[in-house]
Amino acid sequence: MARTPWVDKDVCISCGLCINNVPDVFRFDDDGKAECYDPDGASEVDIQSNAIDVCPVSCILWQE
Ligand code: SF4
Repeated sequence: MARTPWVDKDVCISCGLCINNVPDVFRFDDDGKAECYDPDGASEVDIQSNAIDVCPVSCILWQE
């Protein structure tokens, strides 16, 4: 099964970086926190390098 990115919303500071960089995977929820709405919207490499690796508070994690 493919891995799915998951955002720890208690830690997310709503900087928008992951949403700007990978908009086909991440969006803001109603509370202004990032959420993954389409895990297949980009490749794992794209998600890793442009969202997970650049999140300033490291709150995006892979779920198996
Ligand atoms: S990069 Fe991290 S802190 Fe910024 S919006 Fe995305 S999940 Fe939240």
